[in-house]
Amino acid sequence: MEPKYRRILLKLSGEALMGEAGYGISPEVMFKIAREIAEVHALGVSMGIVIGGGNIFRGISGAAKGMDRARADYMGMLATLINALALQDALELEKVPSRVLSALEVRAVAEPYIRGRALRHLEKGRVVIFACGTGNPFFTTDTAAALRALEIKAEVLFKATKVDGVYSDDPIKNPAAQKYNSLSYDEVLSRGLKVMDATAISLAREYGLPVLVFDMLKSGNIKRAVCGENVGTLIGG
Ligand code: UDP
Repeated sequence: MEPKYRRILLKLSGEALMGEAGYGISPEVMFKIAREIAEVHALGVSMGIVIGGGNIFRGISGAAKGMDRARADYMGMLATLINALALQDALELEKVPSRVLSALEVRAVAEPYIRGRALRHLEKGRVVIFACGTGNPFFTTDTAAALRALEIKAEVLFKATKVDGVYSDDPIKNPAAQKYNSLSYDEVLSRGLKVMDATAISLAREYGLPVLVFDMLKSGNIKRAVCGENVGTLIGG
């Protein structure tokens, strides 16, 4: 298979990492994802990864229990760093060279995020894992994914989740929900479709960054997506 894209930004949701457990990191899921990433790396595709933290902590949940929102968001960002290190470990077993670059400085465990350094790692064929989102509270890792995708000049943002695309309604609650093959940014925003938050979609729209939403747990999907198959829902235009 020939890759369609030479550089991609992969957004992995924290939630999808927890498998059946309902919390934390499932080693099986992590190893499976690492194997899939290794396949894409072997095609010579340059890859940045933004990883979420929802399997460990979300700022909004802390705030709902009375925490200060900004502090809770910092906890959420640190949760993404835990996931980033777990992913790096799994990639190492697959012999895929990687670096964790953190938007918050935690020097003992990760390099600070410096754009030029990220680009250099990518040029050297290393997978770059972006931790701690944008480094700012009140944002999400989806917005971080759109931002980093633009910064590294990725051709596409792959939003890998637990569902196989964007539906007109929640497919679990409503069996009549329709799956979209493609959508415009405006359709996502005007229909209030829960794909990514509005900040992330607006950023993608502003700079014409295509977003592909697909199921990351289906074997071979990341590779198929890299080779240009529409394995989910493509947002653009
Ligand atoms: N977060 C933040 N700023 C960012 C990115 C993330 O404050 O730029 C915090 C926020 O509290 C969020 C948590 O980190 O709830 C985990 O990220 P997210 O919910 O986006 O992860 P995912 O849904 O992908 O698992």
